Amino acid sequence: MTLLHAVRCPHCQSEQIVKRGKTARGTQRYLCQNILCAKASFLLDYCNRGRLPEVKHTIIDMSLNASGVRDTARSLPICPNTVLRELKKKEAALELVNTSLLRTLNPDEVAWAMERAGEAEMDEMWSFVGNKSNPRWLWHAINHCTGKVLAYVFGRRTDEVFLQLKALLEPFGLTRDYTDHWGAYTRHLDPEVHRPGKRNTQKIERKHLTLRTRIKRLVRKTICFSKSTQMHDIVIGLFVNRYAFGGVV
Ligand SMILES: [Zn+2]
Repeated sequence: MTLLHAVRCPHCQSEQIVKRGKTARGTQRYLCQNILCAKASFLLDYCNRGRLPEVKHTIIDMSLNASGVRDTARSLPICPNTVLRELKKKEAALELVNTSLLRTLNPDEVAWAMERAGEAEMDEMWSFVGNKSNPRWLWHAINHCTGKVLAYVFGRRTDEVFLQLKALLEPFGLTRDYTDHWGAYTRHLDPEVHRPGKRNTQKIERKHLTLRTRIKRLVRKTICFSKSTQMHDIVIGLFVNRYAFGGVV
C-alpha cells in the first residue's frame, strides 16, 4: 500500500492515507489509517483535491491546451481559485531566455531576429478587461538559422520592450540580427550589424508559423485568462517555456 503524502485526512489531519476504491460516480475514496480517527473513509472535497500532484499537473496541461479557468475547474473538479493559484505558482519558474540553448551556441554563428508575434487579439474577449487599448504583445528573438526561440518578452508596442528583449541577449554576445522595418529596430540597432528587410524575415516567419499559430489559438481560446495581464503572460510564458525552450514547467 502506498501512502499519498499530498492527502490529509479532513477529520484528524493524519497523513497516513491510502486509496480505497471509487464511488459509483468515479470519485476516488480514501482511507485514513489513524486508528484513533473517528471517520475512517472519506472523499476529498472540492478544494483539497487541488493538492494532488496529478491534479496540479493536469491544471497546467489543460491551461496550455487552451482550457479556461472555469472549464479546467469544472472538469477536474476543483475550485477555480485552485487553478489560478497553481498557475501563479509557476510564474517564478518561468525563464525569459532559453539559457540552456544559448550557453551552447557560438555567438559568431548565430544571427537572431526579433519580431512581434502572437498579438493578443482585441475583440470582444478583451472587452470585459474594461480597457480595449491594452493589447499585449509577445516579442521574441529567434535564431535566424534554426528558427529556435532564444528569448521572449511581453509588453506593449514600445521601445522599452524592444530594449528589454535586446538586453536579455546581450550577455550571450549575440550581435548579428535581422529584423523588419519597424521604427524601434532602426533607432536602437547598430546599422553596421542591422540588416532590415522583408527578405530576411520571411524565412523566419515560415519556420515560426507553427508556434505562432498555436499561441494565437491559445490566446483566442483562453478567454478567462485575458481578464488579467498576469494570467495571460503566465500561460503564454509557460507555453513558450515548454514548447519553444523545451523546459519542464
Ligand atoms: Zn483520520
